Amino acid sequence: MTQSLSEYSNALPSDTLMITAENVEKWYDNDFHVLRGVSLQVTLGEVVVIMGPSGSGKSTFIRTFNALEPYQKGNIIIDGIKLSHDLKNIETIRREVGMVFQQFNLFPHLSVLNNVTLAPIWVRHWKKEKAEAIAMQLLEKVGILEQAHKYPAQLSGGQQQRVAIARALAMQPKIMLFDEPTSALDPEMIKEVLDTMKSLAESGMTMVCVTHEVGFAREVADRVVFMDGGKIIEIAHPDQFFNNPKEERSQRFLSQIL
Ligand code: ADP
Ligand code: MG
Repeated sequence: MTQSLSEYSNALPSDTLMITAENVEKWYDNDFHVLRGVSLQVTLGEVVVIMGPSGSGKSTFIRTFNALEPYQKGNIIIDGIKLSHDLKNIETIRREVGMVFQQFNLFPHLSVLNNVTLAPIWVRHWKKEKAEAIAMQLLEKVGILEQAHKYPAQLSGGQQQRVAIARALAMQPKIMLFDEPTSALDPEMIKEVLDTMKSLAESGMTMVCVTHEVGFAREVADRVVFMDGGKIIEIAHPDQFFNNPKEERSQRFLSQIL
């Protein structure tokens, strides 16, 4: 029996929720209230850009999605898996959610190829040959196949960041988090990393990116989330957010970066 179209579309929203954060509250050291009731839903294939002043809680918020930060109140559900406050499901979540940081955090003593194969071999228990074959495909995808046998220190910042992206993708994550991935790069290298992220977005990856790259946000983001003081102040389509932000705090922030 064929399913009617309306039934199918009714089923879509909850079926495709990849990240649900409900009223998330977090304190650092029991007294600094860093996340003050933050709620966000991200659906399959969506690209969400998070912007906001330094110290507004952007990094802390996205780090709760892959259990790098515990939280004290609220709920976080990643692809149907509830991430308990005590981080009980940490292993499963880490496999589902890849992350790329401002500082590339590559292992300096390992070749590019071994940086990419390390986690699949140790965590996914893939055979070396399989891990290497997939790593080479990913290195080709991010445009640095010819660097596979070099060490991180021999690469430019932009190349190192693309290795970091390939390394995260090697675990076959369902969600990718980016925390200011181009902030530590020289200007001429920013584009190559943003282009890699753009093609990943076009491939259908669900992505949450903290970035102040307005061009990327305008072109690639489905929604822009603006945070300030540990709260989400505004969520809007990029056209709306950049041309006609609703909130006064968003306007003030944009007047400083545009
Ligand atoms: P953003 O990424 O928006 O710049 P962060 O999430 O890094 O903001 O930080 C939000 C606030 O939490 C800042 O005031 C920061 O100093 C503080 N903070 C971040 N990490 C810690 C930590 N490990 N311990 C205590 N305070 C922290
Ligand atoms: Mg940050």
